[in-house]
Amino acid sequence: MTFEEIKNLDEQYVMHSYSRFPVAVDHGKGATLWDIDGKAYIDFTSGIGVASLGHADEGWLKAVTGQAVKLAHISNLFYTAPYAQAAAKLCQRTEMSNAMFANSGAEANEAMIKLARKWSFDKYGKGRGTVITLHNSFHGRTITTLAATGQDKFHDYFFPFTEGFRYADANDMDSVEAVAGHDVCAVMLELVQGEGGVLPLDRDFVQKVADLCAKRDWLLLIDEVQTGVGRTGTLFAFQQYGIQPDVVSFAKGIAGGLPFGGILANEKCKHVFSPGTHGTTFGGNPIAAAAACHVLERMNEDFLASVQKKGHYLRTQVEEMALPCLGATRGLGLMIGIEVKGGRTNRELAALLIDRGLLVLTAGSGLRFLPPLTITQEEMDQGLAIIRETLG
Ligand SMILES: *Cc1c(COP(=O)(O)O)cnc(C)c1O
Repeated sequence: MTFEEIKNLDEQYVMHSYSRFPVAVDHGKGATLWDIDGKAYIDFTSGIGVASLGHADEGWLKAVTGQAVKLAHISNLFYTAPYAQAAAKLCQRTEMSNAMFANSGAEANEAMIKLARKWSFDKYGKGRGTVITLHNSFHGRTITTLAATGQDKFHDYFFPFTEGFRYADANDMDSVEAVAGHDVCAVMLELVQGEGGVLPLDRDFVQKVADLCAKRDWLLLIDEVQTGVGRTGTLFAFQQYGIQPDVVSFAKGIAGGLPFGGILANEKCKHVFSPGTHGTTFGGNPIAAAAACHVLERMNEDFLASVQKKGHYLRTQVEEMALPCLGATRGLGLMIGIEVKGGRTNRELAALLIDRGLLVLTAGSGLRFLPPLTITQEEMDQGLAIIRETLG
């Protein structure tokens, strides 16, 4: 098919819930992609942080195909080795106690919210189901995770939303105290607000929230759907913040390209879900779980150190260009936000870069880079050269 044929078919038969960039991606290798006409692109998106080992990674392919020829799906009514192994690997590296798997970030967060409310119900009874989240957060697109998302623009059209969320300002303990109450069971945070613009929370604020949670017997819920699984240069971002969550959610990068996600609970929360209280048909699918096991095996200390080094390199290189349309960079590891200035929008700059062969993302009012964590020096330099030539 030609690009025009694909585009016409898509326009006619696909719901227009996205305004797509004019590229039909055909295949990839590492952090390089080719479109339907054979034009090459450097990938600074990894499909929004999903293809964590890059495209068509040999080890990942072996793990996925090895499982696919044995068993694709059997449901959670039976044991499978990949599920148990992925859960064990995650817990052993996070000091968490047990796991439950889902298929996406929103679903993982739904599970986390359900767990918090049931934990509180089991201990205190009704009337203590409110979760405090932060302004400018993003927690997903289901009705409940939209309600959890602290941005007004996500609170239109779909009424009635799920009750029981209140919003505080990031890095402002007074505003957290201001929305506290006898009805609260948990605080839910992204440690680096991703969709909101790649805004890392202050370490001091996060530790004070953790202290307040301990004092009030609230659960500390950390949404690591974007920051988790190596993205920030540690397996989970909470490991850089000196805190231990009660529950943490993850998704995007966990299975290197397959739909997968889940939650990890600590000792206090490990028995909240009993048979029949939460479930999913697809969650923990053996192929995705086998992919997750492979992703976790690859993310050893050296791998994670390289993520920090690459993130530092990309940020300093962009800042040294001192381009008129790009401002300060921020983020953690290979989760990088870049301020846009000088009159053009982030969407306009992204469209220019994509046209010249570099896929990038936007977040808030800035640009966002989430390259595959395996991106090579050469691919980073090719991407940086496109930025210099296009925006310089
Ligand atoms: C992407 C994202 C989600 C939603 O994940 P989906 O897989 O799109 O449902 C939730 N929280 C955060 C922090 C995210 O970045």
